[in-house]
Amino acid sequence: MSRPEPDPASGPAPGGAAARSPEVAADVPLADYTTLGLGGPAARFRVAADTEELIAAVAETEAAGDALLVLGGGSNLVVSDQGFPGTVVHAESRSVEFRNADEGRVRIRAGAGVPWDPLVARTVAEGLSGIEFLSGIPGRVGSTPIQNVGAYGQEVSQTIVEVLVYDRRTGERRTMGNADCGFAYRDSVFKGDDRYVVCEVVFELERSQVSRPIRYAEVARALGTEAGSRVPLDQARETVLELRRGKGMVLDPDDPDTRSAGSFFTNPVLDPPEYAEFARRAADLLGPGVEPPAHFDADGRAKLSAAWLIDHAGFTRGYGSPARISTKHTLALTNPGDATTEDLLALAREVRAGVAKAFGVTLVNEPVMVGVAL
Ligand SMILES: Cc1cc2nc3c(=O)[nH]c(=O)nc-3n(C[C@H](O)[C@H](O)[C@H](O)COP(=O)(O)OP(=O)(O)OC[C@H]3O[C@@H](n4cnc5c(N)ncnc54)[C@H](O)[C@@H]3O)c2cc1C
Repeated sequence: MSRPEPDPASGPAPGGAAARSPEVAADVPLADYTTLGLGGPAARFRVAADTEELIAAVAETEAAGDALLVLGGGSNLVVSDQGFPGTVVHAESRSVEFRNADEGRVRIRAGAGVPWDPLVARTVAEGLSGIEFLSGIPGRVGSTPIQNVGAYGQEVSQTIVEVLVYDRRTGERRTMGNADCGFAYRDSVFKGDDRYVVCEVVFELERSQVSRPIRYAEVARALGTEAGSRVPLDQARETVLELRRGKGMVLDPDDPDTRSAGSFFTNPVLDPPEYAEFARRAADLLGPGVEPPAHFDADGRAKLSAAWLIDHAGFTRGYGSPARISTKHTLALTNPGDATTEDLLALAREVRAGVAKAFGVTLVNEPVMVGVAL
């Protein structure tokens, strides 16, 4: 068992003032626990140091008839300026177990509160392949199944074997296999439904010094190789970190562009008639020579680039004040310093309306909204 380094992304570490107390703390500012640095106070705030405490805190909150918010690293949350009127349970369970499995595979069972990127770093250092392209993503292990965290052609659904959950409907713990999780692009049965509290996640990785095949042309280009090839794990990680830093997608207290919730909008997926209408509007607006980037699946559904849509609807990097589009990446909405959640939402609504007007496509937010709606 080991304890990875605390994630600097995720608010005060377990030794911090609120975290040290096993008691229920009152009026804890959630801005200190979100990567946007936004959010009013939690009426009540409890820290769960292991799976048992997590389940107990959730069950007690329910028994008291209080509203519940499970908090990980706060990197995918937009919290109301008014805060949260119920109990926030901060998942801080940090247990990690590595076990050999069949055919050179290794199973990792990690508690919900384990910081994600230090775990990725450890797997890379130990020669385990499967999550290397997910380097640099903030947050905790327990949140990774919620929106099937993904980047550069890798998603956690490719390596999650099972998820131990507490089922709030039945009051029982339950092990859900990969197929039970309903994984899809930035989605799962857990997203938008607070029935399940993720307590532990089991990943299965391959013992290998080289990465999984590269799926992204951008990564291949940066490594001077071709999509489909495999590279040493540490090179894969360093390259992804470098690419992400260039986009302000690795948390850095000195870089205001990283005070975000990552990508604010998901890439829209259109069925063939919707895509035909979109392509017609794009050609009318931008001329027939402009080809909007799209990735087609086997059923002919097109995944568009939300960043391209925002750019071509006229919203450039750095747009907006006091909340602003990142100067490094069109898809990240940021709080460079003195914005409020309402400011951020006003910017998001303006961008969404501009894209809908230009292209007839309605963007959907990726982060979870707490006490607010877009
Ligand atoms: C700079 C930056 C870059 C990012 N890049 C990416 C990226 O490349 N790919 C990507 O997919 N995401 C990305 N994100 C988004 C975010 O990091 C991930 O979604 C991450 O998994 C969220 O983890 P968290 O612990 O911070 O979750 P939180 O923000 O704390 O919570 C998110 C949601 O999960 C729920 N939740 C948290 N823990 C549990 C639990 N144990 N059980 C049940 N529900 C729970 C919360 O209630 C909330 O609804 C990025 C964010 C930032 C700020």
